[in-house]
Amino acid sequence: MKSFFPKLMALTAMVALAGCSSNVTEESTMKLVTSVDFSQVKIQDAFWSPRLEKHASTTLKVCIDQIENQTGRIRNFENAAKGEGQHSGIFFDDSDVYKALEGMVYSLVNHPDPELEKKCDEWIDKFAAAQQPDGYINTYYTLTGLDKRWTDMDMHEMYCAGHMTEAAVAYYKATGKRKLLDVCIRMADHMMSVFGPGKRHWVPGHQEIELALVSLYQVTGEKKYLEFANWLLEERGHGHGSNEGGVPWNTAYHQDEVPVREMTDIGGHAVRAMYLYCGMADVAAYTHDTGYIDALDRLWDDVVLRNMYITGGIGQSGENEGFTEDYSLPNLTAYCETCASVGMVFWNWRMNQFTGDAKFVDVLERSMYNGALAGISLDGDRFFYVNPLESLGNHHRMPWYGCACCPSQICRFLPSIGKYIYGTAEDAVYVNLYIGNTATFKAGKKNLTLTQETRYPWDGEVKLTIGENTKQEIRLRIPGWCKSYTISVNGTEVSPAVEMGYAVLPGKWNKGDEIIFNMNMPVEVVAADPRTKENEGKRAIQRGPLVYCLEEVDNPENFDGLQVAADTQFETTFNNDLLGGVETIQATARDQVLNFIPYYAWENRAAGKMKVWVDLAEQQ
Ligand SMILES: [Zn+2]
Repeated sequence: MKSFFPKLMALTAMVALAGCSSNVTEESTMKLVTSVDFSQVKIQDAFWSPRLEKHASTTLKVCIDQIENQTGRIRNFENAAKGEGQHSGIFFDDSDVYKALEGMVYSLVNHPDPELEKKCDEWIDKFAAAQQPDGYINTYYTLTGLDKRWTDMDMHEMYCAGHMTEAAVAYYKATGKRKLLDVCIRMADHMMSVFGPGKRHWVPGHQEIELALVSLYQVTGEKKYLEFANWLLEERGHGHGSNEGGVPWNTAYHQDEVPVREMTDIGGHAVRAMYLYCGMADVAAYTHDTGYIDALDRLWDDVVLRNMYITGGIGQSGENEGFTEDYSLPNLTAYCETCASVGMVFWNWRMNQFTGDAKFVDVLERSMYNGALAGISLDGDRFFYVNPLESLGNHHRMPWYGCACCPSQICRFLPSIGKYIYGTAEDAVYVNLYIGNTATFKAGKKNLTLTQETRYPWDGEVKLTIGENTKQEIRLRIPGWCKSYTISVNGTEVSPAVEMGYAVLPGKWNKGDEIIFNMNMPVEVVAADPRTKENEGKRAIQRGPLVYCLEEVDNPENFDGLQVAADTQFETTFNNDLLGGVETIQATARDQVLNFIPYYAWENRAAGKMKVWVDLAEQQ
């Protein structure tokens, strides 16, 4: 890891700017827990650091090359600025450029790099040049006919603007530079001149602008952006959605069947649903709209209890990139878009902040370590769009996609994972994820440094060292998968109370105090809900947060006939030379030996069959 010092200036600027430009504070929200930003968390972790290094060294280069050279994404902005030339690619391709930029910005915070910062500025200049005098920005309509803009609610104009805004807010916070933020403000003001109370109705076909407008509100302090986000959410479910001459508007697909506060069942497009729920959570945090929170609680039950794969993936069908019937979870044809798993992380992170309930982090962790992480190759240069739980050997990661939402999603997700580790409340620090790191953040009225050392997810032992005297209570998340554990403080075992999934260690800590949290991490044999017919008579293998799978390359004989049995013995071995270092599981029953690897690591070797759910042998 490089020195942290070059970014300090940028961070100082960030704090100062946030302080003077906005009156919006986390205290004004109805959130109980405030997340510690990833810029305050330095990850030094055996599992995640190699992935973050690959992101900086490889993934960013792949994305930049695709955007600048292999596809016409940057050229679209150059053409739009000149007002001549063709638009190439898909109508929402601008969004990939913004998402890649967001990933570049997060990487800059972790790994300062003047060349990369220059690249960001170069792109931002091109975006700004492509903005129309009235504030509108979208290269597709600028190059194909501005007269047709804002005629079809499914053409992702607000979606692209939303991703631009997320990138702009990130860049402003990281560097203090506001050129792109000003572009976004002009675009937001343009949208509000066309749509809103007393103006035109609009139901964004692909949600995203809602959460982005809240982030614009957070940095500018301008309440009108929060109100516009709220208005857009309230537009749903009243028959305003339309494609104006395109294919008929599908209210189920677009989550436009009922007003959002009345929603009870997840349906339609999975990624859109996730961004909608994030937008609802973000708006409700400031408006204190408990109707939104009640709806989100109902929807969470419907997603997690009836429509989620064991990998934390969601959206069963490729047909609508989304949901079908409750408990219908086919493995071979599972869609489980990478973006949707990352969306589950985004949404569950927000839900945890309302209540401080660990159940949301359980789902966040499941989606992060399985469904989302499988989305990128170990070398950081290939991506899955679709993440099935079974393969016949013909499903492979690709260097890029025509619709490249997933590569750009992974690009912006990985460098920001530090923000999911800690949360703070008035008198408590929440330790949500177990990842080796040193973090310094405001806890109560003072700064606190915490250091985590761990081999998680390979091993359940975590050492937490307290860096300053503090009276903050420490809340350690007991993962949902963890059935037994011990906790000791300075060598003495303690038995703290458990509240909402967290072991509560009362405050009064001295500098240098050590907490050892030891989670027993046996191999678990998991049965699906009996209503899931696809997994009848099958079992899956999980250890800690990781779901395991069988690959043909490790199990060449009789792959289709492999079975686990009631008397299967499991043995785990750490193999340093395999798949970047993984704990493998060997399962032995009768005269059969099965070799399992973590699901996230599949399809990094010879092509072959794969399955998560394995037949259970009948009792002998
Ligand atoms: Zn995607």
